[in-house]
Amino acid sequence: MPPRDQAEIEAQGICAICLGELVEYDEDTGDIIHMYTLFKLDHTTPANPSAVSHWYHQTCLARYVRYNALATCPVSRQEISDADLSILMQVPDEEDEEEEYDDDDQEEDDDDDDGSLANMFAAAMPGGPAAAGPSAAGPSAAGPSAAGPSAAGRGGRRPRAAKPKPARPKRYKPTCSFLCISVRQLGFTTRNGRPIAPGIPCVLLMGHLQKTGRRRWGFPGGQRERGRDRTTLENAVREFAEEFLGMVRPDRRTIRYIIDLLKKEGTLKLAVDTNASGYSAWSIVFRTAKHFEDTLKKIRGANTGFVGRTVEQKYNYQFSRHQRHPETKGYVWSPLAPHPVLQGQWVLPTRTERIQHRNKRIERYRTVLPPIPNVDPLRLRAGTVGPALQRTLSLL
Ligand SMILES: [Zn+2]
Ligand SMILES: [Zn+2]
Repeated sequence: MPPRDQAEIEAQGICAICLGELVEYDEDTGDIIHMYTLFKLDHTTPANPSAVSHWYHQTCLARYVRYNALATCPVSRQEISDADLSILMQVPDEEDEEEEYDDDDQEEDDDDDDGSLANMFAAAMPGGPAAAGPSAAGPSAAGPSAAGPSAAGRGGRRPRAAKPKPARPKRYKPTCSFLCISVRQLGFTTRNGRPIAPGIPCVLLMGHLQKTGRRRWGFPGGQRERGRDRTTLENAVREFAEEFLGMVRPDRRTIRYIIDLLKKEGTLKLAVDTNASGYSAWSIVFRTAKHFEDTLKKIRGANTGFVGRTVEQKYNYQFSRHQRHPETKGYVWSPLAPHPVLQGQWVLPTRTERIQHRNKRIERYRTVLPPIPNVDPLRLRAGTVGPALQRTLSLL
């Protein structure tokens, strides 16, 4: 990467659309992990060759130009060139994907390096690896746009009447999948029946225990288990069943039951298709937190009694009664706030902390306010704020 680009990315730090890091740093080593494909809006001109350009996650900017009337840089409001627009319009939108990556046939390929190489070649082929996978067109292709009425109707100079059917995205080997759960409001009431924080959406953060006993907060989810998880959705929901519902090795029928239940009671959509790091994320949106917690009661063998617990009890909830060394503890419904720039978009308000260690390494992390008094800010897991959260919150 040219030093100038690197300097610009460093200086900008976050993607102004999702407010997530442009570049993820490994929490323990401080090494850079390039998890995202970035897109540069080049603002230099012959008259102003030293103008600063702006950088975004490609998926964030692609969604932004597709669903907003203004074809301008979200930070500087400068026009986005037609050339950039046409590239961004071609970025695959994951919204129409229903079920993905049925990898029964690929199980063997994924085993060894040849499989990855084959995937790389397929991805490099013109038109992408479409031939390798199932059709991208799903039953929801004609469904309503996630952006709502604002996406249509308003005049713009961009060709957006017919959404181009993009080539199937590159397929990466899935290793890890997450569930990003958000609710339009809590739906809980005080003792005398007054609604708590009405109209304020929240996202569910779960505590992941470190060896130190401290917690880092993020979404339920985790490593794919070969031979058990047939799709990234099964991966995410199985992890949720184990981590949050406290179930011990739930079988595939149980996982399918939970998936159907979540689809029936809420909205379940792919948030981020498997990226180059093997991560994927699914969005769940429920009307209220109470409805979500009530729905979980319908799952036999799952933790019960979330409803009616205090915020503090949820913060200290022991999900696993089976493991001697539980990996997760506690959850919070963390309130969202309006996006500072993008109208109608919600964001998770965070603070960025920087600690310089003695060996000069700089540790950076995000925190959110704790749900109860006399508790330190909750430290987020790396990558919690980013495209998956942004995508989920764009459904609210
Ligand atoms: Zn972004
Ligand atoms: Zn700009």
